[in-house]
Amino acid sequence: MPVLCSSCAGKRAVLKRPKTGHSLCKECFFWAFEEEVHQTIVAAQLFKSGESVGIAASGGKDSTVLAHVMKLLNERYSYGLELTLLSVDEGITGYRDDSLETVKRNQQQYELPLKIVSYEELYGWTMDAIVKQVGLKNNCTFCGVFRRQALDRGALMLKVDKICTGHNADDVAETVLMNILRGDIARLRRCTAISTASEGDGVVPRCKPLKYAYEKEIVLYAYFKKLDYFSTECIYSPNAYRGYARTFLKDLESVRPSSIIDVIHSGENLSVRDGVRMPVQGTCARCGYISSQALCKSCVLLEGLNRGLPKLGIGKHHRLHHKILSQEPLTEKEERKLKAVEF
Ligand code: SF4
Ligand code: ZN
Repeated sequence: MPVLCSSCAGKRAVLKRPKTGHSLCKECFFWAFEEEVHQTIVAAQLFKSGESVGIAASGGKDSTVLAHVMKLLNERYSYGLELTLLSVDEGITGYRDDSLETVKRNQQQYELPLKIVSYEELYGWTMDAIVKQVGLKNNCTFCGVFRRQALDRGALMLKVDKICTGHNADDVAETVLMNILRGDIARLRRCTAISTASEGDGVVPRCKPLKYAYEKEIVLYAYFKKLDYFSTECIYSPNAYRGYARTFLKDLESVRPSSIIDVIHSGENLSVRDGVRMPVQGTCARCGYISSQALCKSCVLLEGLNRGLPKLGIGKHHRLHHKILSQEPLTEKEERKLKAVEF
């Protein structure tokens, strides 16, 4: 006997919701998923009417679902938002070039404007060129730091009030776990926040409307809605550490589906003891972007690339910042250390 949808009791159930275990028909699942995102947006007051919002769009499932749902809810509930797709081209042949084609199709499908900013135009380096110099061990450090700044620069060009990103519940839970394992208190405190205010000039507030959406449900939503998205992994994706956290979380989820939300709640409820030293935010002496050191991470990484010293921005070399700024030459020993690359 076919199982009936536990919500409408009229149609046949086609799926079991990973988050709740309820058997639902397609339409009731769509409605439940969309309403939960709407509730998240309303409860956290993520947007104000009249705001212009950049949707970080990579062509992957998360950002494609985000763009689709943001457009739909903006119309259904008259949020009054002006939406634009904002993409970063890291310059990864065989990956980002293809996924950007997906974003361009999404732009047509959703009738939203699209802005693409590229590492090449912003930094003079593509990820292909960076990997040639730094190898496959630290490439994601470069990519992650550059992406964060690239999104801000794109948002400033577009003059949007906010950026929303497709981070889902699994991403947030993984990040909580990683920050606990690394003892990174400052990041642990920030990573569960659903929205961040501007931390200074050049930093655009960000929010995560899919913060409570399970990855499995995003995949189901994209699949049943037949959304056009790109599902190939980045060809330079080692990111082993996140991979372990991910596998661990998936194991927990298979035993107890609520584990993902439980980890997020644990992260949200951790409080930091008074007196724990937090990095003080200032601005980069070179580019003016926020930084807790004399130079921002992006400028140090870039300096390392341009000087053929790829390890300059990897690890802690803060004491070299003044030398970089004053263009004082490095000692032979320092140069040797910063050149070594493990491929
Ligand atoms: Fe960049 Fe690493 Fe992500 Fe590839 S896997 S897009 S190199 S951060
Ligand atoms: Zn800088």
